[in-house]
Amino acid sequence: MSTPSSQHPFTPEWSAHGVSKGIAVGKAIHFRPRPPVDLGRPPAAPSLEQERFRLAKDQVVQNIRGLIEKTAKEVGPEEAQIFEAHLMMIEDPELLDPIRAGIESGALPEKSVKETFAVQISIFEASDSEYLRERALDLRDLESQLLDELQPYDGLKIQDIRTPGILLAEDLTPSQTLLLDRTKILGILTEHGGETSHSAIIARTLGIPAVTGIRNLLSSIPASAEIAIDGKEGSVFLFPPPVACAYFDNRAREYQAELTTLQAFKGKPSVTHDQHSIRLMANIGGVEDAKHAREGDSEGVGLFRTEFLFMGRKKAPTQEEQRDAYRSVLSLMETHEVVIRTLDVGGDKPIDYIRIPKEENPFLGVRALRYCFQDLLLFKTQIKAMLLANEWGNLSIMVPMVSRASEAAQVKRIVEECHQELHLDPTYRAKPFKLGAMVEIPSLVFEMKELRESVSFVSVGTNDLMQYSFAVDRMNPALKNLYTPYHLGFLRMMKYLADEAIRHDLDLGICGELGGQDDLLPLWVAMGYRKLSMTPTEVLAKRRLLSRLTVSTCNAILREVLDAKDGQQMKLILTEFMKGVSN
Ligand code: PEP
Ligand code: MG
Repeated sequence: MSTPSSQHPFTPEWSAHGVSKGIAVGKAIHFRPRPPVDLGRPPAAPSLEQERFRLAKDQVVQNIRGLIEKTAKEVGPEEAQIFEAHLMMIEDPELLDPIRAGIESGALPEKSVKETFAVQISIFEASDSEYLRERALDLRDLESQLLDELQPYDGLKIQDIRTPGILLAEDLTPSQTLLLDRTKILGILTEHGGETSHSAIIARTLGIPAVTGIRNLLSSIPASAEIAIDGKEGSVFLFPPPVACAYFDNRAREYQAELTTLQAFKGKPSVTHDQHSIRLMANIGGVEDAKHAREGDSEGVGLFRTEFLFMGRKKAPTQEEQRDAYRSVLSLMETHEVVIRTLDVGGDKPIDYIRIPKEENPFLGVRALRYCFQDLLLFKTQIKAMLLANEWGNLSIMVPMVSRASEAAQVKRIVEECHQELHLDPTYRAKPFKLGAMVEIPSLVFEMKELRESVSFVSVGTNDLMQYSFAVDRMNPALKNLYTPYHLGFLRMMKYLADEAIRHDLDLGICGELGGQDDLLPLWVAMGYRKLSMTPTEVLAKRRLLSRLTVSTCNAILREVLDAKDGQQMKLILTEFMKGVSN
């Protein structure tokens, strides 16, 4: 996310897209998700297939028993009950009988398993009872365990990686990225995913160097091959010669030295050379990240992506679980503001148990607030958990994907309802909080006056605002050249939005990735953005850069950029300017 730096003295095999800076050298680890089950193979005699199914089922039973024992010992008896329920389900004749009947009539066990589970799952999913709907998920889990036994594959599970190396995958989902152990995963290479894909955002927060956009990655780099990657430049070296390895070691040391130098900016105010202050805040996905935010000296949290609390589990966290997580973050940040965003499910962040019907265009579909309006129980549970956690009065609630001011008005009513319902408990102590909206859909840019009726702040989600302004999928590396802030219309819109928000007395910030991009900092200062939220590790570098700017130079550079004839010239102007301030 920074301006270009010096080129490598060696020619990389691939020059792709660096999405998380840092250097990594290590062996390639291939990660392939499970291939689709092959239903085309001809079945053997029914008696043989019955036996194959019996063996698979017995193995699943044995695995579940092991899991019950391990969970009861390491987690708790209550959690182990989930798997007890699986055990009962897999022995249930309502499930087993139709599978066996299917095999008897000549079907492949895999086919019979899939058909039987499909019927059962649809019955559970159509139920009015939330409890039964949740059981559908358990069924899906069991189905995939049975299929894994019937057609084993030798793919690697992310959590099973033991030897440190560089992970190579076609793509990684955010929940897979969350499972990464940074002591084992030295770097990440993927074919798909852009700079603002959530996997890239998590990689940056975890401090794992990552490069994306390499075609035919898994067939081009053999497993266990030695590779080196530079996550800033986007370069990838296959079998780097010793001299290149020495160069990389050097770069890694320089990188470390740079981090040490930045420590001098800890505890300093975030101000320009002429004392204009900007609040530098952190984007986090959970309590652990909040600790990094503290270490990085950020002045609060500008975006807490709560959807990560909902991932990697079988059902939504309860009100109490959420309250505890939010309370930990609010208390860690002490007096600083913490902006907690309501669930932004959908797009590239699916959550298994949140059943959004299959959509042709998930980024334009039932995502975020749109889903929350349909599932008021979940939405209100989350808002109440936030209000309950607000013991120090530093909470700001923010809603994503607002397309019109009336949606924010609806949110305000729902928040008030939550407040009143909590007041039924005489022990509830309400503390002040703020309500805000993300500006990520262009139509909202033109409704600041109306928006002010319901919220007191706006924060620009530039990742989505660019995607929806240019009609460019933020995940698609093939359209990377179109997904760029060096665009007259886009920067004019950012300026207009700032003018309008200021005119209507809305507190104004940016929490998309552009908020942490070096060369854009002078533009945001000049436009009047007062809060910038970014990867926690970027805060000190931004504080140093800010100290080298003055408001008048920022104003001048903004004028120059808005006068440029095209995006290329804009970028050039900013690159030249940055050379002047970085030295
Ligand atoms: C954004 O869109 O800029 C944003 C911050 O939200 P997310 O990246 O989680 O969609
Ligand atoms: Mg967004």
